[in-house]
Amino acid sequence: MSAPGKGAGRTAVVTGGGSGIGKAVCERLSADGYRVAALDLNPAAAAFGQAADVTDRAQVDKALETVREHFGPVTVLVNAAGMDGFKRFADLSFESWQRVIDVNLNGVFHCVQAVLPDMTAAGWGRIVNISSSSAHSGQQYMAHYVSAKSAVNGLTKALALELGPAGITVNAVPPGFIDTPMLRKAEGRGLLGGTVDDHIARTPVRRVGRPEDIAATCAFLVSEEAGYITGQIVGVNGGRNT
Ligand code: NAP
Repeated sequence: MSAPGKGAGRTAVVTGGGSGIGKAVCERLSADGYRVAALDLNPAAAAFGQAADVTDRAQVDKALETVREHFGPVTVLVNAAGMDGFKRFADLSFESWQRVIDVNLNGVFHCVQAVLPDMTAAGWGRIVNISSSSAHSGQQYMAHYVSAKSAVNGLTKALALELGPAGITVNAVPPGFIDTPMLRKAEGRGLLGGTVDDHIARTPVRRVGRPEDIAATCAFLVSEEAGYITGQIVGVNGGRNT
């Protein structure tokens, strides 16, 4: 039995649910009463975990079959799996370019296409794609990542138009400066252009974002009451991008 709450009776899949933002989304949606499954390379205990690489369609399909067997059809999808990368464009190998596009963009393609039959059959669905504020601002040494995340925003808009008549909303949340292992790893490697504290001083709300900030936005966007919101890029970045 699912706990009472907004999500009671609904099954949500969160990619990248083993860490950072995806993990916080799993925790929040579980607290809201959804049956939550995490797809990740290394799924943590935040939800019903399924090991899957989102770039591998066969793995995604297999993981979703298991989720359906346990929880029934999937009508909520949050695509949070992602990887960053830092390299001067002149030195960027095509293999790195391809892998970053594969994880951040093609992974969304596979997961959306794989859950779509469930949503179409239900006449109801909610998809949230976690992109990046860098798609708005650009970011040096991240040409592959920025390109992939910009494409995720574009895909979101195209799908919103196509899937709206089927009762499915599609929105993107581009986070900016959220305290996760990904951010701390970049800080540790000196790739942030300063420390997290330096960035806090330049952030209008004067704090680093928390994974829970993104989770709260996702929780709203997948709810019944957000049904008139689709095709939107909903920035959550402490005012760093306006
Ligand atoms: P994170 O802590 O590194 O979490 C990302 C998760 O995705 C990890 O568990 C990772 O697994 C998993 N993952 C990576 N490649 C995967 C694949 N091919 N298949 C399945 N799972 C995969 O990073 P995060 O900061 O929470 O990032 C979540 C999302 O927010 C990402 O899309 C990221 O680009 C985006 N974002 C974050 C920030 C920020 O400030 N933190 C800013 C802008 C955008 P492993 O750890 O095993 O690799």
